[in-house]
Amino acid sequence: MIELSGIEKRFGDAVILRDISMRLAPGSVTALVGPSGGGKSTLLRCINLLEIPTSGTVRLGQERLDFAPGKKIGWPAIQKIRRQTGMVFQNFQLFPHQTAIENVMEGLVTVLKWPRDKARARAMELLDKVGMREKADAWPSTLSGGQQQRVAIARALAPSPQVLLCDEPTSALDPELSAEVVDVLGRLAAEGTTMVMATHDLRLALRIANHVVFLEAGQVVEAGSAEAIFKASTHERTRQFVSSIN
Ligand code: ATP
Ligand code: MG
Repeated sequence: MIELSGIEKRFGDAVILRDISMRLAPGSVTALVGPSGGGKSTLLRCINLLEIPTSGTVRLGQERLDFAPGKKIGWPAIQKIRRQTGMVFQNFQLFPHQTAIENVMEGLVTVLKWPRDKARARAMELLDKVGMREKADAWPSTLSGGQQQRVAIARALAPSPQVLLCDEPTSALDPELSAEVVDVLGRLAAEGTTMVMATHDLRLALRIANHVVFLEAGQVVEAGSAEAIFKASTHERTRQFVSSIN
C-alpha cells in the first residue's frame, strides 16, 4: 500500500503541488495526465523523494515520513522509501559505458551488495521478461529507443520495488517502438506490478491504467477510472484536455 496525504511542494514562493492525496492499492496502475507544467513529474519525484515534499505524508509499505517546512529528513529515511521504488525516465538514462545486463545488475551489486552471479541471474530473468535476453551484452548506443527503454524497465524492476514510477515512458519513441514498450508495461500490469505513470499517451493510459488522475496547476481536478475520465467525464476542464490530446 502506498499512500500520499496532503502533499504540498513549493519551489521558493511557487506552489507546484497543492494538497495531493492518493492511495495506490497493490497491483493498481495509475496514470497521471494533464497539461504540461501541471506537476506530474514533480509528483512522481515526491513519491521516490527525488524531491522532498514541503509538507504532507508519504507512506510506502512499513515506512512513513511526515514532511513540514524546515523539518530535516535524514538520508537513511529517504533511502528506505527510495529503495522501494523503481523509476523509468522519458530518455531512458541507461549508463552508456555498461552493457544492457550490466545496467540491470548495477544497483543490485553496488547498492544491495548482491554477489555478481546472483545479480547476473536476476538481471537475465528480467531481460527475458522485457524481451531483451538476446541483447544482454549489447551497448546502449547500439539499441533502438524502444529496446533501451525495455532495458531501463528491467533495471528499475531489478530490486523488486513496491512501485514502478514511469515518467512519460513512451514520449521519446516513434509509434512502432512505443508499441513495444506499451506491450511490456501492459504485461507487467497484468502480472500485478503496481505502477504510477505520467503520460500524454492516451493509448497507453487506456490500455493499462485502471485509475486516472487529471492534474492541472498542481491540483487534482478529477480522478477516476480510465473510462470515466477519457470517455465520460462531465468535468469541463477534463473534457477540453482529453479532446486536445485526441
Ligand atoms: P510536462 O507535461 O511538461 O512533463 P509536468 O506536469 O511533468 O509537465 P512538472 O515538470 O512537474 O510538470 O513541473 C511543474 C511545475 O514545477 C512547472 O511550472 C515547473 O516549471 C516547476 N518546477 C519543476 N521543477 C522545478 C525546480 N526544480 N525548481 C523550480 N520550479 C520547478
Ligand atoms: Mg513531466
